[in-house]
Amino acid sequence: MHSLPRLKLKCCCVDCLQRINWCEQQGGPKVPLEHAERKVPIPLIYMANRFQVLRGADKLSFYKLRDDAECSMCITTCCHTLMFADHPCYSGNVLVGMPAAATWQGLEEKEAEAYIQIQDWDPEDYVQLEPKLPGSYTDHMAAPEEKFGIAKPGSLEPDDKSLLMEIFGPFFSPPPEGPGIQFKDLPGAETPWNLGLAEDRSSKKLQLSDSSAAGGA
Ligand SMILES: [Zn+2]
Repeated sequence: MHSLPRLKLKCCCVDCLQRINWCEQQGGPKVPLEHAERKVPIPLIYMANRFQVLRGADKLSFYKLRDDAECSMCITTCCHTLMFADHPCYSGNVLVGMPAAATWQGLEEKEAEAYIQIQDWDPEDYVQLEPKLPGSYTDHMAAPEEKFGIAKPGSLEPDDKSLLMEIFGPFFSPPPEGPGIQFKDLPGAETPWNLGLAEDRSSKKLQLSDSSAAGGA
């Protein structure tokens, strides 16, 4: 792994917590209470998708939370640590890591630049979060071109969307050429095992699909 993360964000989504909760339940690292109780969003670091596996390649396995989950997680079979994960929206450029439940020797610190998936956090609690940072959201009911937006720091008021490109810029630059391999090169990475877990009830997407099933009430 490259020692300097490209980007750090804090994720408010329910799936991120479910990932590290699952690892803990299998005997993996304990999820810090502030995250388990959803008081503090989960830090995510994004690293260039180019790395070397020095040892233990046979102990890497791949999972997804449920059938329609797009994120493939690389989890060790020995200590159930989530090493990193890939998602189609990274276009093979970056991988995401969750320092709340894994440590990497020699990885440098970086300040978080934004909250993401803020639609999954309680709105009243969200505006109280510190530090105040821009927050990106997905509006699951909106037309495709209106789906993603960004809110001003410490607020739910929409900000200029050009900020999105600024924040997510690191997603768009390709990883350095070798040496090393990429996520897709790991055996099984592209065919993750489906854990079949139900989506957490505080998922905004789930609430919306429930209410439309119930006649939009
Ligand atoms: Zn998340």
